[in-house]
Amino acid sequence: MAKQRNLILLGPPGAGKGTQAQRLAARWGIPQISTGDMLREARRAGTELGKQVAAVMDSGGLVSDDLVIALVEERLQRTDAREGAILDGFPRTIPQAEALDALLAKMGRDPVRAVAIEVPRDDLLERLGGRRSCPKDGASYHIQFNPPRSEDVCDVCGTALVTRPDDRMEAIAKRQDTYERDTAPLLGYYEKKGAVRKVDGVGELESVLDRITRTLEA
Ligand code: ADP
Ligand code: ADP
Repeated sequence: MAKQRNLILLGPPGAGKGTQAQRLAARWGIPQISTGDMLREARRAGTELGKQVAAVMDSGGLVSDDLVIALVEERLQRTDAREGAILDGFPRTIPQAEALDALLAKMGRDPVRAVAIEVPRDDLLERLGGRRSCPKDGASYHIQFNPPRSEDVCDVCGTALVTRPDDRMEAIAKRQDTYERDTAPLLGYYEKKGAVRKVDGVGELESVLDRITRTLEA
């Protein structure tokens, strides 16, 4: 099998994972797998799963490991992911990272590499406060740093943009705490395997994209 690219983007809420994952996926012709987008889609569709996760998502907590692991397992088995995938927002806990390693091994796939996008806390608040999201395809915009071409509609699909319920100040603070407690330890997990590179996430979107691709090629 041709060499695969299984890349994880790590970083706190607002670091630019979704923004960069979308661009890397387009560049490399492999899918972006965002568990946040998948969960929001389930809510929009009004499925049982969607109803089950709504409250915990809006409060800034994490949905259960078993649930997201099952979603990712099903998604990675689709044919469009046979040459790899850009994972954004997953894994978010050590058990999720262990499950992903086991899953890729079971499928005979290459192990993951991780890029950690680093952004100071004050910038994160500014980014999340001005984020506008496409409810249909998950694309992220920013009222100041990455405005859509026409005001308040998605460049790609024309859908009206929304402010996510968890981009309110109380939920942002809780998500940052959740990140520090449950997700930041993943850096050590991947460092031990020599599988993570850190990238400065401050600057133009395209400069950050170049930094990520150059780091991976180095
Ligand atoms: P994450 O998926 O890590 O939560 P997003 O990709 O949704 O982050 O980005 C969060 C917000 O910051 C969005 O409004 C996005 O448009 C904006 N953003 C992304 N990258 C940058 C950047 N390099 N500089 C300024 N704003 C950015
Ligand atoms: P952000 O872009 O701000 O990092 P996401 O869109 O990735 O946020 O996730 C939004 C919410 O969806 C999370 O706060 C959490 O409730 C839930 N979620 C997404 N991915 C996971 C995951 N891998 N494990 C548990 N919960 C998740």
